[in-house]
Amino acid sequence: METRHLLVLSAVLGLVAAGKHDIYARNSVHGVQLRNKADQEYIHQLEVQMDLDIWQEGVAGRRDAQVMVTPDKKTAFLKALDDKGIQHYVHLEDVAKAFTDYDDQVEMWRSMRKLRMIFQDYPRYADVDAYLEGVASQHPNIAKLVTAGKSFEGRDIKYLKISTTNFEDASKPVYILTTMIHAREWVTTPVALYSIYRLVENLRSQDQDLLRDIDWIIMPLVNPDGYEYTHTHERLWRKTRTKNVTNHETCVGVDGNRNFDMNFASLGVSNDPCHLTYPGPFPFSEAETRYIRDIFHEYLGRIQLFMDVHSFGNYVTFGYGDETLPQNAPQVLQVAAAMGAVIDTRKLPEADFYLIGNSATLMYVTSGCAQDYGTSIGIPFSYTLELPSYGYDFRVPPQYVDQINEETWHGIAISARLARVYYTARRNAQNNS
Ligand code: ZN
Repeated sequence: METRHLLVLSAVLGLVAAGKHDIYARNSVHGVQLRNKADQEYIHQLEVQMDLDIWQEGVAGRRDAQVMVTPDKKTAFLKALDDKGIQHYVHLEDVAKAFTDYDDQVEMWRSMRKLRMIFQDYPRYADVDAYLEGVASQHPNIAKLVTAGKSFEGRDIKYLKISTTNFEDASKPVYILTTMIHAREWVTTPVALYSIYRLVENLRSQDQDLLRDIDWIIMPLVNPDGYEYTHTHERLWRKTRTKNVTNHETCVGVDGNRNFDMNFASLGVSNDPCHLTYPGPFPFSEAETRYIRDIFHEYLGRIQLFMDVHSFGNYVTFGYGDETLPQNAPQVLQVAAAMGAVIDTRKLPEADFYLIGNSATLMYVTSGCAQDYGTSIGIPFSYTLELPSYGYDFRVPPQYVDQINEETWHGIAISARLARVYYTARRNAQNNS
C-alpha cells in the first residue's frame, strides 16, 4: 500500500518537474485544407489578427497548412475557418505533451546510439563551435574559420570559408549556405555541418569538382541566441533575442528573415514587436542579418548561389516576395527544379515531393527576406530551401537526420554544379566582349 502511494506521488512530481514545455500546454496544431489562393491569404490575415503561429505554409490543393493556436483563441480560430467553409483537422492536441514525448524518445535514441557524428543529432552552440574550430585547424589549406562578429547576446557568429585557392581565384564562383536563422528549425544546422564534412573531411571521388571548382561559405548558426534559447527555454522560439522596448512593454526578438533591406516591412509582416514575424524597427537592425549582408558585399560579383535553409515543407523558392520575378527567372527556376528533382529521387517514399517556384506565387507575399535581398543586389541564384519534416513538423526524430543530410547534399551538389556552368558562361561572355 505504502509503495503504491509512493509511486503515485512520484508520478505526480515527475509531471511537475518535467514541465519544460509547459508554456505550450493545451496549445493545439491544426491541419488546414487550403482550396485556393484566397484561403491561403485568409490564413495570413488571421495570423496577424489572432497572433497565430503558422508552422507550415500550405499550398492550395497540394499541401495543408499547419497552424498552432493557444487555448484561449482556439474556438474563435476554428469558427473563422468554419465560417469560410475551410476544412480542418487536429494535427496535435497538446503541443506540450508532444514535445515532452519527443524529448523522451530522443533521449532513448541517444542512450542507444552513443557513437554518433555531430551532424547526426542536434548539437548545441558550443559543440558546433568546437567542430568548426577542429575542421579549420585540421585542414588549414582548405578551411578557414572566420568570426563575423557577436550576436546580440555576445556569442561569436562564425562561418567557414572552404577553398583550395584561398578565395583568390576569381574564375571560381562562390556558393553561400546559411542555416538556423529561424531558431526552432533544428534540422537545418546538421545539413550545414554535413556539407562541411562532405567537402572537407570526407570528399569523395565523384565530388572532387565541387571543392576544386567552387569556393564555399558555410554559416551553420546564423542565430545562435535564438537557437540556444530553444534548447533552454522555449522550443518554438523563432526570432533573434534582441530586446525591443516599446511604449508599454518589452518584447524580444526580430524575425531575421524579414529584416533584410528589400521591400522592408511592406508585405506579410506585423509591426507589433511581440509578433512572431516582426521585421524589426528598420532594415538590418539585427547584427545577425548584417553579417550576411556584409559577406554578400565582400564577394559580390563572385557569389553565384545563396541558399538559406529552413524547415519545414519541401520547398525550393525564389524571389521576389511581391510576386515579381528576376530577369533570369527561367534559369533560377531550372536550378531549383533540378535540385528538387534530385532530392525527390533519393527521398524515402513517405516524404512529400518538393514544390518549386516563386515564393509569393506558391505560398504568400513576403518582404525583407534573405532570398529577395540576395536577388536584389545581383546574386544570380538566391533561394530559400524548406527541408522535409517527414511528417514530424519541428520534431524530426534524429533517426531521419542522416537521410535528410544525404538527400539534401545531393540537391546542393547539383545546384552548385549548374550554377557554376552559368557562372563560367557569363565570365567567358564578358571576356570575349
Ligand atoms: Zn524558417
